[in-house]
Amino acid sequence: MHVEKRELVIIGAGPAGMTAAIYGRRAGLDVLVLEKGIPGGQINTTDEIENWPGVLMATGPELGEAFRKHAEKFNTEFRSASVERLELREGTKVVVTDQGEIEAEAILLATGASFRKLGCPGEAELTGKGVSYCAVCDGAFFEDEVVAVIGGGNTAVEEAVYLTQFASKVYIIHRRDEFRADRAAIDHALSNPKIEPIYNSVVESIEGDGLVEKLILKNVKSGETSDLDVAGVFVFVGTVPNDDSFKGFVKTTKGGWIDTNLRMETSVEGVFAAGDVREKFLRQVVTAAGDGAVAAMSAYGYISQQQHLRHKLLEPQEVFALFYSSIDEKHAHLTGEVENWMEGKDARIVLIDAYKNAGVAQKMGVSELPALLHLRKGSEVARKKCQSLEDVTAQIG
Ligand code: NAP
Repeated sequence: MHVEKRELVIIGAGPAGMTAAIYGRRAGLDVLVLEKGIPGGQINTTDEIENWPGVLMATGPELGEAFRKHAEKFNTEFRSASVERLELREGTKVVVTDQGEIEAEAILLATGASFRKLGCPGEAELTGKGVSYCAVCDGAFFEDEVVAVIGGGNTAVEEAVYLTQFASKVYIIHRRDEFRADRAAIDHALSNPKIEPIYNSVVESIEGDGLVEKLILKNVKSGETSDLDVAGVFVFVGTVPNDDSFKGFVKTTKGGWIDTNLRMETSVEGVFAAGDVREKFLRQVVTAAGDGAVAAMSAYGYISQQQHLRHKLLEPQEVFALFYSSIDEKHAHLTGEVENWMEGKDARIVLIDAYKNAGVAQKMGVSELPALLHLRKGSEVARKKCQSLEDVTAQIG
């Protein structure tokens, strides 16, 4: 059976994935972007973006489209496919999609985040019929109506203020007696005469005949329930990572966000994560794009290392590999001597800078440097710690 093989498979076509595609293609990688739904990701639900440097104002879809065009300019291949799961088969990374399987040298997880749902009765049924997760998308439908915002974070408090442009009254329903948002945002919201907070309350259910008509609230302190007549409900209770298809494949933090290091490497070698789906301090278009650039360059380094390893060490019939560190003066002196000695000879020594190719050294189990490895068709025959040119030549014979 023919299996598709690609260098870098990017899952997700939001700002992180598309920036990674641009950087990956410019570095010469074969890049495939798998997208589900409309390209652009969560920015498609944002009406105004005015903190993307260099662009004073753009709508989310405009920016998403511009990102895509930019990635296409560098011949990025996009494919509409839904990823079902990721697998490691004898060290090979496989992306299993509804369109078939792809073997990837490196994978970038850039699937973003989604709005957390309340999970109460009526929420799913009345979504788009008065229940919304986007004030800028739907706020204008509630001119002179009463609406409720659920949540106590910055998003809830700031979007409540935004909604006062349209609504006649905006309740903010929060489960505790204190908002989580910044002091400045809270003060700004509470000084608005159209905004009224309702503390210590949760939504038991959202009710209405085809359209939202009222909320059933429960006071968590007294246990009492009450009705609140509203025409709209804006749910801003945080975000959750879109990681269903690779849950358990890579290490995540408590909230389910993917754990990465500064190079965007996950717990699985050759698998990277960028953007909102990873554990991070600030989830914004600009930070997602930054992550994407870092991830692409890390993936490039990883893929180059793998190819280097295969080409120089694993494929030849017989080879000697001298692992050294370019930041050690003695090693630099030794490699200079080895290079001079090799001149004019049919030498079979490959010099590998373990400082720059740490992954290769790690893969070959080389920790003590300098070390000379003797390999036949990728299998180790012998290994020796070498301090001098004599040590090296004695091994080669
Ligand atoms: P958030 O800070 O996580 O706040 C979520 C809010 O929803 C919390 O008040 C939480 O209550 C409440 N909540 C969670 N689950 C709930 C449930 N099942 N039922 C009822 N209430 C529930 O999320 P966010 O407001 O979307 O903000 C996300 C991040 O972006 C934050 O770091 C925020 O500061 C940042 N942000 C910054 C700005 C800005 O700087 N201008 C604007 C927007 C967002 P508890 O408080 O009781 O946990």
